[in-house]
Amino acid sequence: MSITVVTGSASGIGAATRTRFEKEGAQVIGIDIKDAEIIADLSTKAGRESAIAGVKQHCGNSIDSFVACAGLATYVRPLSLIPSVNYFGAIDLLDGLFELLKQGRDPAAVVILSNAALWMPPDESPYVQALLNHDEDEAWRILTEYEEADGILLASGQAYMGSKFALGRALRHRASNWGRLGVRLNGVAPGNTDTPMLHKVLEDPNTGDGVRSMVIPLNRFGKSEEIAAVVYFLCSPEASYVHGSIVVVDGGIDANTRPDCF
Ligand code: NAD
Repeated sequence: MSITVVTGSASGIGAATRTRFEKEGAQVIGIDIKDAEIIADLSTKAGRESAIAGVKQHCGNSIDSFVACAGLATYVRPLSLIPSVNYFGAIDLLDGLFELLKQGRDPAAVVILSNAALWMPPDESPYVQALLNHDEDEAWRILTEYEEADGILLASGQAYMGSKFALGRALRHRASNWGRLGVRLNGVAPGNTDTPMLHKVLEDPNTGDGVRSMVIPLNRFGKSEEIAAVVYFLCSPEASYVHGSIVVVDGGIDANTRPDCF
């Protein structure tokens, strides 16, 4: 039986990913702050370390796939939680589980980004740079500066988009080495997907109208199962030559927003 580790497995896209892998016969080890095999707070370094130790305890020397799904959106306070969970909670586990993945069967990992990651301005952001430098304190400091300069609303958008943009870059930076060592690594960039996270964003008076007014060519929100299907495909041998890619699954929002960029 193949072993899949999923962060954020208790809710939304992570829960749908768990269900899909289980339906295909995999054993799933979930990591979350609640309702999971491994309870860990990925917003802290100690929580991330205990999650990695927990996987080693549950799985021994190898795992076959890893899906980094845990995340927080713009509504959380303090804003420092956004990079800590979205970026460090994904990257530290990717790197910490790499040796186990290397021992797996047709091993692959998928990181959940967001289509918003594709919309970052191309100029170098010090916040993104701090994330790529793996400097959590500096990323928090820069976010505080953004909050003081632009207000919490704009800063929360920068915190979220920047965390996902840095995650996409970090995964592409790893593609060369990981590929050479036999572990495939890809990203999935969902658009608005019907989960508890989206509901919180819709209920937030600061973000609800913006999200509701977004043009979605397929004319509806995505379902968690539709994201999980792509995640499952990317981890399966059917995707044996897909590596270092970021697959947008957003009902056409990105194509509508940026028709000339891909
Ligand atoms: P969700 O809120 O339904 O699920 C997120 C999960 O992450 C929860 O189970 C939560 O407990 C877990 N989590 C949060 N903080 C944690 C922490 N400190 N430690 C451990 N686990 C923690 O959200 P979702 O919509 O399923 O989001 C899943 C991923 O998809 C996120 O990375 C999110 O950024 C991304 N995403 C979602 C949407 C959307 O519209 N839903 C759009 C784009 C990207």
